[in-house]
Order: sequence, then C-alpha cells, then structure tokens
Amino acid sequence: MSHLSTAPAFDLRQVTLRYPESERAILEHLSLTVVDGEFLSIVGPSGCGKSTLLKLLAGLILPSAGEVIRSDSARASTNRTGFVFQHPTLLPWRTAKANLLLPLELGRSRNHAPLSSTECDELLAQVGLTAADSSKRPQQLSGGMQMRLSLARALATKPDVLLLDEPFAAVDDLLRLKLQEDVRRIHDDRRLTSVLVTHNLHEAVFLSDRVIVLSGTPSRLVASVAVSCTGSRTADFRESAGFYESISTISAALFRTSDTVTEVPA
Ligand code: ADP
Repeated sequence: MSHLSTAPAFDLRQVTLRYPESERAILEHLSLTVVDGEFLSIVGPSGCGKSTLLKLLAGLILPSAGEVIRSDSARASTNRTGFVFQHPTLLPWRTAKANLLLPLELGRSRNHAPLSSTECDELLAQVGLTAADSSKRPQQLSGGMQMRLSLARALATKPDVLLLDEPFAAVDDLLRLKLQEDVRRIHDDRRLTSVLVTHNLHEAVFLSDRVIVLSGTPSRLVASVAVSCTGSRTADFRESAGFYESISTISAALFRTSDTVTEVPA
C-alpha cells in the first residue's frame, strides 16, 4: 500500500448499528479508516453486516452510535459516490444511454455537468461497451453487459468513491475475471477510493489493497489483511505465492473467533 496516500477518505469511530425494530446490534464498536485511493474489500459470513457497512459509508443509513466521517463531508455525502448493486437495476424502457444519464438527470440540483455524446461513448468504452450498444434497451444486452452498464452509470457523475455490493455475483466465472480486471483498471485510472463487498476471497484479494474480515454477533472487525502486489493485477498475480498466502490468511481469520484484530501488513 506504499503508493497510497495516508489521508483518510473515511474514518469510522466506534460505530454501532442497530436497525429500528431489531433487538440486536448488527455491527458493534467498529473502528476503521479507509485511506484515500485505497481499494478495500469487506468479507465475512452472510448476514454479518457487510452491505450495512457499505450503506453507512454511502451515507444511506446513520450509525446508532459512533461516527462515520468522510473527508469531503463538506459536500453532500452521496454527491460524489457511485454505487453498484448486485443486480444491474436498469430501467427497461430506457436505452443504455438514457440509463447511463439517469443519475445526472436526478442530480441536476447538485450541478453535475451533463455528459456530451463523446463523453458518453468514452464512458461506455471504458466499461467495455460500444457506441452501438448505447441505443439498445437493457433486455437487448446480456447479463454481463447490463452489469457493465450499471458500472458506467455509477461512474457518470465522476465520483471519487465507488461502492460495490457483490456486483459480479450473478455473472459466469470467466466474465467475472474480466470484469474484475476492468474494475481495478478503472479504479487506478480514475484514482478512486473503492470499497467492495464480496463472498469470493479470490476476487477480494485480486482487486484489493486490503481486505477486512467481519465476524461475530454483533459483528466486529476481526482481521485487516494488506495485499501485496508488486506488478500489475493480471493473470500472473492470480498464480503468485503472495496471492495464495493472502487467501489463506483471510480464510484462517474467517474461521477463527477472536476478540483481537489481526493486522497483516503487506
Ligand atoms: P451481509 O451483507 O453481510 O449479508 P447485511 O448487511 O445485508 O449482511 O445484513 C445484516 C443483518 O441485518 C441481517 O440479519 C439482515 O437481515 C439485517 N438487515 C439488513 N437490512 C435491514 C433493515 N433495513 N432492517 C432490519 N434488518 C436489516
């Protein structure tokens, strides 16, 4: 992570989250700093609160106790945040281009500059779609292309933070590997701060500078594992010893119950 700045993009201080009408807290005393420019993945058992943590970062929900501080908090918290959901959530009656432009239309009051036709095409190209795809409706696009469009839509407002909630869960394995490479390239090119929720440890390690593990009831942060990747994130990295070492460290943390946080530096 040495190439990353040390400025925090998010600072969570002793965050506890209890949903209204819920007896137990989902997250408890969670302290976490997400560094500016970092690609962070969150892993943990189903129901442990990974998506909840992402929603806290997005400012969609507020903590029951503690603080979620965003470095650019002077701006509206959702203004510069792109969110990619597990399903593409596209409007079927709109063309790809009209779906892409939707956040800009909804955010007019936030003074988002409109995208020119050329910028639209460039954005589609960045996610692997063509200008010809822009006039198609979602049902004319494959599942993978719909996910790509959903990613482009998240980038349309030129966010500085990208939040991804299991975005590749429904696509086939081969496409998933390609999408992972595309997302990491976009993260690097646009100098984003990205946070991904995933069940897939290979995906977490391939994409991330750091992987955190949530576990317990309520959930706490049980491990923070820095991923070392000296070269580029390509097929070679997936075959490297360091890649498998990171996976085995994270797996061990997932199956261990402990009150202490394991910090594994790169
Ligand atoms: P994960 O992403 O790790 O699978 P979630 O963050 O989606 O977990 O959910 C954590 C827990 O919070 C689950 O038990 C879920 O049922 C509960 N939960 C999620 N959203 C709400 C909500 N809006 N109201 C009440 N409970 C919720």
